[in-house]
Amino acid sequence: MPIYEKLMGNPFVDAGVCGICEWLGRTVQPDQITKDDLERVVDEIVPIMKPFDKKRPEAHGWKNWISIFTNNHKLSNPSIKKDQRVPQFKSLLFKYIDEVEKLGQAGDCMGCGRRDANTWLTRTGVPLTGAGNCNYFPIFSEGAGYCSACAYAIQMSPLVFMATAGKFLTLHSNSWKALKSWARVCVEDVREQQLKQEIAGCYTPGYANPRNGIFYMTREMLKYGEMRPDENISMQVYCWTNYIQGPELEVFYMPAPIFKFLRIVYMGKFNKTWQEIVRCGYLVNWDKVESEDDYKNRTNRVYENLLQDISILGFFINRQHRKPRGNWELLSLYFKEVRSMEITRLEKIKQVGNLIAECIKESGSDKRLTRLERAKSYEACRTVLLYIIKERIKLGAEKPLFSLDDYMEHLFPESEDFSATPWRETRDLLLFRIYEKLHNWLQEKGFVDFDEDEDDTSDLDSESDTE
Ligand SMILES: [Zn+2]
Repeated sequence: MPIYEKLMGNPFVDAGVCGICEWLGRTVQPDQITKDDLERVVDEIVPIMKPFDKKRPEAHGWKNWISIFTNNHKLSNPSIKKDQRVPQFKSLLFKYIDEVEKLGQAGDCMGCGRRDANTWLTRTGVPLTGAGNCNYFPIFSEGAGYCSACAYAIQMSPLVFMATAGKFLTLHSNSWKALKSWARVCVEDVREQQLKQEIAGCYTPGYANPRNGIFYMTREMLKYGEMRPDENISMQVYCWTNYIQGPELEVFYMPAPIFKFLRIVYMGKFNKTWQEIVRCGYLVNWDKVESEDDYKNRTNRVYENLLQDISILGFFINRQHRKPRGNWELLSLYFKEVRSMEITRLEKIKQVGNLIAECIKESGSDKRLTRLERAKSYEACRTVLLYIIKERIKLGAEKPLFSLDDYMEHLFPESEDFSATPWRETRDLLLFRIYEKLHNWLQEKGFVDFDEDEDDTSDLDSESDTE
């Protein structure tokens, strides 16, 4: 039996195993790792993990030890002489390696559950373990039992943590490839630090806002294109600190449909448009922005809504300029993947939007469009559609705008919780399509007489209103 395997379930252990594999080589799998490999990793990595010395900042060093493993850790303990810290840490790791056993069928280790615990770790050995507050504190005793192989892996997990404003983001996922891609991002950064001989510590791309950080993580890991589009990959991201005074833990969850949607937009032709949509989710005064650092940690409503399962349809529509952000293909991708809307419903709405656009164009006026934009209730929305139906008949249209079945099933269906029909969603989807078809015409006709460069998002605040 091997020492490790993929996805053993404990986020810190899996992070460590991933970091070890990535360090040993891109194609190394957990079940290939031997004791010799673990020794090699100690010899190569521990010198890099030399702690930062405030008195000798020019010597560089890993800064995060106290925040990750408290000041009792071998590398941060003030009672251990500075020149003794690395050797003592090394001998602890070699002790773990000596005691490593192969994976068994079952055991009481908190990391793998496949070997018996032979070492007792407190929060100096595993973050957030065995004390009050938000720590893992299952048996009201200081610490928890781990096997040596897991204890060793956890000591290597900082290789793949992302540091963010004094806290850390640790990724866990149902997909080994996802974990591995993220490990690659972090380990490449550590290797670069090593190459430049400017070791600073965990990968720190400057995200203090963990929600924005998760989307950054997703984008970075997708760069390697190792995940197949049909894989159902979900992610949990733990944002935590292990300070003795006031440890913190927040867990963010990115469900598989959102990951899948992002995978398609980040990797394909929609990437640029998607970035524009994300940009208008930031609460920021763009006049004062000089670089990405001025806004990347601000609240982003697109990201917040995605993580909270709230629709982001409003961000696809530039109401002031009567213009879509992105095209129908991107919008329907979002609705299909993330909002689980049926294709037939989307197609019907698109078709009705096309017919309304034609009718508006033939009428030569934007009166009906304005009414549709301003509809504040389901009744008002229906009334506008009724006028458009009449107008189409007057103009000699051959087919009706929609059938009664389309109306009941696709345009204004009963909502799942039997509250009012989601008329606002349908209305906004129609507006999106009408803008897509008519924006140029509306501009030519002078029905859009705004400055195109000014991207006002103030209208988005009313998006969550329901009636
Ligand atoms: Zn274990």
